[in-house]
Amino acid sequence: MGRYASVIIDIALEKLDKPFTYMIPDELMDRLEEGMEVSIPFGRGNTLRKGYVVAINDRAALPDDKLKYISSVNEGSVNIEGRTLALAAWMKKNYGGTLIGAMRTVLPVKKKMKELTFKLIKRQAQPERLIREVQGLNPLRYAARIRLYKALILSEELPEDMIKDKLNVSAAVLKTAQKDGFITIESIRRYRAPVAKSGRYSEKTTLNEEQQAVVDEILNARDRGDLRPALIHGVTGSGKTEVYLELIEKVVSEGRQAIVLIPEISLTFQTLMRFYARFKDRVSVMHSKLSEGERYDQYERAKNGELDIIIGPRSALFIPFADPGIIIIDEEHELSYKSEKMPKYHAREVAAYLAEREKALLVLGSATPSIESYHKTQEDEYRLFSLKTRYGKAELPKVYIEDMRAELKSGNKGFLSRRLSSLITERMLKGEQSMLFINRRGIAGFISCRSCGFVVNCPHCSVSMTEHRDGLLHCHYCGHTQPKPKLCPKCGSKYIAGFKAGTEKMESELKKLYPSARILRMDADTTKNKDDYDRILSSFADGEADILLGTQMIVKGHDFPNVTLVGALAADMSLNLSDYHSAERTFQLLAQAAGRAGRAQKPGEVVIQTYNPEHYAITLAAQHDYESFYEQELSYRELADFPPVCHMLTMQFYSSDAEAGMERAGRIAQAISSMEGEVPELIGPAEALIGKLKDTYRTGLYVRHKDIALLHRVKDIAEETEAELNMMDASADVMLQFDFDPVNSF
Ligand code: ADP
Ligand code: ZN
Ligand code: ZN
Repeated sequence: MGRYASVIIDIALEKLDKPFTYMIPDELMDRLEEGMEVSIPFGRGNTLRKGYVVAINDRAALPDDKLKYISSVNEGSVNIEGRTLALAAWMKKNYGGTLIGAMRTVLPVKKKMKELTFKLIKRQAQPERLIREVQGLNPLRYAARIRLYKALILSEELPEDMIKDKLNVSAAVLKTAQKDGFITIESIRRYRAPVAKSGRYSEKTTLNEEQQAVVDEILNARDRGDLRPALIHGVTGSGKTEVYLELIEKVVSEGRQAIVLIPEISLTFQTLMRFYARFKDRVSVMHSKLSEGERYDQYERAKNGELDIIIGPRSALFIPFADPGIIIIDEEHELSYKSEKMPKYHAREVAAYLAEREKALLVLGSATPSIESYHKTQEDEYRLFSLKTRYGKAELPKVYIEDMRAELKSGNKGFLSRRLSSLITERMLKGEQSMLFINRRGIAGFISCRSCGFVVNCPHCSVSMTEHRDGLLHCHYCGHTQPKPKLCPKCGSKYIAGFKAGTEKMESELKKLYPSARILRMDADTTKNKDDYDRILSSFADGEADILLGTQMIVKGHDFPNVTLVGALAADMSLNLSDYHSAERTFQLLAQAAGRAGRAQKPGEVVIQTYNPEHYAITLAAQHDYESFYEQELSYRELADFPPVCHMLTMQFYSSDAEAGMERAGRIAQAISSMEGEVPELIGPAEALIGKLKDTYRTGLYVRHKDIALLHRVKDIAEETEAELNMMDASADVMLQFDFDPVNSF
């Protein structure tokens, strides 16, 4: 049991690195826990201050006679700081790592930023007095003063900028006017606004019957005290966003606040405007492209009660609202809701914790819910709501599955099936737009030798390199480039070539096939700058191109009324992933893509090109049949014992030395095997799927079990063992991270 506590005096990120060490008095020895609020004597005068325990240790860097004792524990504090800390403690318990690390995650603002202000000039004298003053002044000598007073006769207050710029009045003149008691000059706090305000505020829409029923039932259930999370399964275009807006309006009218999570990639101007139009400047955004000052100000506005609604990716969960009443997670199946950095939390789980604590509603929405969430509705843990029709009776598109093996047999060696190419031609004639995407997940763009099978790998990462138009081979993980070998390094054969299936290549092929087509390409290479993404999409929306060609990123959440054809090239590439999610990902991608065609009055068509035309992920996506897909997928997960029927924990060891990581993983596996009570089955230690990345070796240790609490115990044992091993060998250079229910394979 530790005798020393690290205490931070203030919850602010800049102070997290400077905890103070205190001794723990005997009477608190058994009671004190990380995360507790304590009173401590501070400074020369030993004034009592409030602090938070962030760690408990056996040793201290200073001798005991230089240390003070903690005075007492403050029970039951519920201020914002206490709640933030409780959240961090919960994250640490559930996802591993340190409390400080968890606090860095839940405090979205890095440091206190300068507050911006502007000066406001306020009239202090009666207009009559100003009129008399103006009449008494010599217009030649005091022209500026007269301009100022005349303006103030008309308006009671004016911004200083405006007076200086537009009226050409100097600071000296303002000083005099202040001294004479005609005006006061006040400093007013001004917030950095992340989105330009639009003048167009829209009227409330009237929900259709189906939408209204969902809103009513969610609110009624809440009023009955049923706070189970709600999952809205609504086909694309069914008006989920309208339902969110209505729920938010209700909650805000009760004086509470709303958090809306949307994937960063669909945080577009279009989406934001729908919220701004309804809630004006009571809504704001948090996302990675905001400047530090902008982030700080949104945080401050939320804390000071000047915001009701925040929209953003997963980190928006950490906005310090006084009384959040609803949390919405749109496109809840998106992978980006899982953090890939320690603590590796899932926004859905953190939101569920926060909603329960705050007695708030949690509403998830998707056209293709994650198997996990849908499973919870079947177990009555979540409530299920469906929106089955598209708003305005828009039809779901007709979907064709094209077997590319059959195309080849009948002599078509191109990358477009005959059906897709004739449909593209048709669209060009009608002046309608097409979207073509390549499923790049798991695609092979590698260079291999056709004689001996040698594959060119990155020297720093155990992944294959891909050929780019600059003639060089690129590693997509670390950015390493090198020239393409002319002869096979292994056998000397000259038949070493690229397996090309990239967007660049497709673009040049398309140009040959449709010389008059205007083509936009969107992939990692054309969206390197922060505005590229918006620029390409709005140019396409404005009808500046006939075809938008890209990777799966073009599929996500955009509305293009003139798009009536969507083509999925190489739809089944993601079926080859060595990951139990691969069918789910493929289904989601294709079903979402199908939702992009024909959203307005014009009916849409979708072509899925595949080498696996019978696979259930493909046939059921083509039929827009989520329920059947869920049934099939769940029976596979049950058979193979994968989540959601169990939980998984991956322990990830990173080291600069291959042996050291393997060794450390072995020691921890041993400790787990000799744990008390039920011992779960361990897989590994084994080299990770990508065994080496950026010169770091990766070793995995995998556990599965139905009971998540058991996996938490495994994590605790691993952390304790790791601390002991580090103590014995301070030079050991192995880092351990935990990933519960991973969304990507390691
Ligand atoms: P989803 O989020 O389910 O894909 P949206 O909320 O984006 O669907 O709705 C699709 C389109 O239908 C949008 O253009 C939206 O403005 C319109 N819409 C949906 N419901 C209504 C409604 N009740 N009144 C007017 N327009 C609606
Ligand atoms: Zn070879
Ligand atoms: Zn590399």
